[in-house]
Amino acid sequence: MRSKEGEHSVNIELTVTTAVADLALGGIFTFDDLFDAVRERRQRRLRVVELADLGDHDGICAVWLITDAEDFILHAHSDSVLHRQQFVLHEFAHMILGHCDGDECSEVDALLPDIPPHTRGRLLRRQDLDSDTEVAAESLADRLAAGIRGSAFAESRYSEIFA
Ligand SMILES: [Zn+2]
Repeated sequence: MRSKEGEHSVNIELTVTTAVADLALGGIFTFDDLFDAVRERRQRRLRVVELADLGDHDGICAVWLITDAEDFILHAHSDSVLHRQQFVLHEFAHMILGHCDGDECSEVDALLPDIPPHTRGRLLRRQDLDSDTEVAAESLADRLAAGIRGSAFAESRYSEIFA
């Protein structure tokens, strides 16, 4: 007999595998291919921006903001390109898995400066990886990273930096 915890991870594994198949990107793709696929799915503008001092706010690695007009991913700086990529892939994973479609996301405007009031979003903090949605997002992010393999993120035409 399988333990409850075992069943749990099998479900997450299945969710992640289905999500990867749905993206129809094949086994190997670039960060930009993935970016296009996510944007197409959401049918709205998508921006990915590095904000150097984001990590100064309670160890936030990344945040996915949902405004009326666009999806906006802010991510902290890291000297490791793969690390930075993982922050973004984690937020992409939430988007792909529909983790902000209901009431699952809270207003984040109080947490960060310069964000329009009542903006909904999802935050990734280093210490927050234990809930089912977070485990699923991180697991999908790992699978996406395996598909990208390497430093494609550094060459992405979509990556912006706020100076
Ligand atoms: Zn998350």
